[in-house]
Amino acid sequence: MSQDKSITPAAAGPDPAAGATTESLDRYRSSMEWESKFYRDTAELVESTARSMNVDPNIRNRMLTPSRALIVSIPVRMDSGAVNNFIGYRVQHNNTLGPFKGGIRYHEEVNLGEVSALAMLMTFKCAVAGIPLGGAKGGVRVDPGGLSRPEKQRLTRRYTVEILNVIGPEMDIPAPDMGTDGQTMAWLMDTYSEMKGYAVPSVVTGKPIMIGGSKGRTEATGYGVAYCVAAAADHLDLKLEGKTVAIQGFGNVGSYAARKLTDMGCKIVAVSDVTGGYYDKNGLDLNHVLKYVDIRHSLNDYPRAEQISNRQLLTLDVDILVPAALGGVIDERIARDLKCRILAEGANGPVTAEGNAVLKEREDEVFVVPDILANAGGVTVSYFEWVQGLQSFFWSGEEINERLFRILQTAFNDCVDFKKRYQTDMRTATLMLGIHRVSEAMLMRGLFP
Ligand code: GLU
Repeated sequence: MSQDKSITPAAAGPDPAAGATTESLDRYRSSMEWESKFYRDTAELVESTARSMNVDPNIRNRMLTPSRALIVSIPVRMDSGAVNNFIGYRVQHNNTLGPFKGGIRYHEEVNLGEVSALAMLMTFKCAVAGIPLGGAKGGVRVDPGGLSRPEKQRLTRRYTVEILNVIGPEMDIPAPDMGTDGQTMAWLMDTYSEMKGYAVPSVVTGKPIMIGGSKGRTEATGYGVAYCVAAAADHLDLKLEGKTVAIQGFGNVGSYAARKLTDMGCKIVAVSDVTGGYYDKNGLDLNHVLKYVDIRHSLNDYPRAEQISNRQLLTLDVDILVPAALGGVIDERIARDLKCRILAEGANGPVTAEGNAVLKEREDEVFVVPDILANAGGVTVSYFEWVQGLQSFFWSGEEINERLFRILQTAFNDCVDFKKRYQTDMRTATLMLGIHRVSEAMLMRGLFP
């Protein structure tokens, strides 16, 4: 392991106020602001992991709630002439290691609890990757598929203005997430720049390359998943050649993971999207699938495969399973039925707390690469984009991919070291590493005022 010598926060000395902690887990449990199952499960996992590491109780409590949570109304004139009022959020969890960082999600089920849980995960994701950024997330409760392009543009511009005072290249840097893309980031960057009076490309990452985006950002999350699978296979002494893969979700993350895993010699036997799963035990022709999706914008009725359900896909007898869609898809029952050897979590929070309890028992059968490690490739290349933008000096695609690979390889090895050292499961070890790095920095900086 590189720099983490000890898990006890000895460097900064004991916090004199440690004994004076009055807050407890009950306090945040009883506060309803962030209430949602996902938030509760995420906070409880952070709490119990931090407790098992003897993290200073004041630091531990501070990690359980975001630094700031903004709720905004976004009135948008629809093409029909009617005005719809959407609800949006920007939640900033922790900025001890650097500016807040995290995507913006457009989805009809977005709520404060979900965005807050995702912001918390971003804090530890950045820490695990070892990049100097904090954690945030944003979202708008809207079905993006139901918006025309001009409506989506108006929504994005108004949302940007509503959160304008809390974002910026030194403060909080949004990026794409579910339902948003490079075009959304271009509108956000343009709106922010118009309000400032000059171009501010570094206010967002995941921008198109012609306005300051980075090479490799679009592919980064999916490629990162594949690099983590390769690291896991190496750790387990498995050869990737000929290994079977099922991918749930064929958007940006799933499709680029499929490409890279195919390059590495794997056989993609199943993919899925909202229209269902598509399976061929002899391996799908990935180029044909990609072409089909390019033309039809979905896998609907994909002809060269057997149709299966999303549940069937998750429990297929494959070597590698990549959930790369919504959160919460692997519950207790599915966790019991998983047949994969490696579970690489491309999505954020794909396993419920109950599913996680089962996976801990099945640790020797299913090797888990948890979300904050497996999908950290996206924010890592976002970091590269931010650095390149601030310096106005751009790197080649090869440099980016090579640096991404190195960062994820190091992060994976650091997590495995924690796993061995603390005799724990991979998800706990990964979170421990993130909590360790953030809590050490919080102790070192001290409490203001
Ligand atoms: N939305 C992505 C994530 O969940 C990327 C965030 C970023 O690039 O800032 O990790």
